[in-house]
Amino acid sequence: MRDALIAQGEVWLVGAGPGDPDLLTRKAEKLIRAATMIFHDALVGPGILELALPGTRLVHVGKRSGRHSKDQATIDKLIVAAAQAGERVVRLKGGDPAIFGRATEELDACRIAGVPVHICPGITAASAAAAGIGASLTLRGLARKLTLVTAHARAGEELELDWDKLADPQSTLAVYMGKAAAKLVAAKLMAAGLAGETPVAMVENASLPSQSIVLTRLDLLGLTANAVLGGGPALILIGDAVAPNHAGETIARAATARTHAAT
Ligand code: SAH
Repeated sequence: MRDALIAQGEVWLVGAGPGDPDLLTRKAEKLIRAATMIFHDALVGPGILELALPGTRLVHVGKRSGRHSKDQATIDKLIVAAAQAGERVVRLKGGDPAIFGRATEELDACRIAGVPVHICPGITAASAAAAGIGASLTLRGLARKLTLVTAHARAGEELELDWDKLADPQSTLAVYMGKAAAKLVAAKLMAAGLAGETPVAMVENASLPSQSIVLTRLDLLGLTANAVLGGGPALILIGDAVAPNHAGETIARAATARTHAAT
């Protein structure tokens, strides 16, 4: 029996998380099982789509950099048309739909057409990457701020980011879609004053069995990104909080405290 969580003619933008099906929310799973039609991205893996009930129509509308299978306006129209035809629609997106997920376009298209639309949040790639390296994105005293940026520019356009603001040694920078522009991002941040030895962690395919982690520093980021990363989605974390030794230090401190408490 299909769950009645989605009314006919209703749309849910659902966060599929970073890839590991176990990182779906329970609500996302219920919504997937309630849908009669699912429009999904390239980043939503097979382990998640398998949760759909037999008979559910799965429509791939994925966009990977440079290989757009459907443009955004077409996706908006397809979603609205499906809802108007009485389907229970899930629009399944990697990570959290509200973070670099083009959610606004789809929300607007639904609202303009009078189609009820809701969001189910998901675990964003930055959280999965932090879990992958076993570190916190914020750190008392060292990283009081977390900034999420995308380093993806439209074809032919410059990356327009406020580098002076981003080059803040007291903050952690999570760069989405940053693989192609890694070298440029590093150069701009250093030109704006961020130290070349600032720790950087790159996590590709976070949360998946194919996850790979590269720990480097800002002045080596361009080189390392080109040499080491493969074809999967990658998140770049920049800042003192992601230094490889922080996790170790914290564990060591906790262990020392425990030893003292025990004696
Ligand atoms: N809405 C998504 C982000 C979409 S933008 C979210 O909240 O995570 C796509 C970018 O997200 C990719 O280019 C990559 O930088 C990042 N990303 C998504 N899944 C990832 C994963 N499993 N591992 C590393 N980065 C990932």
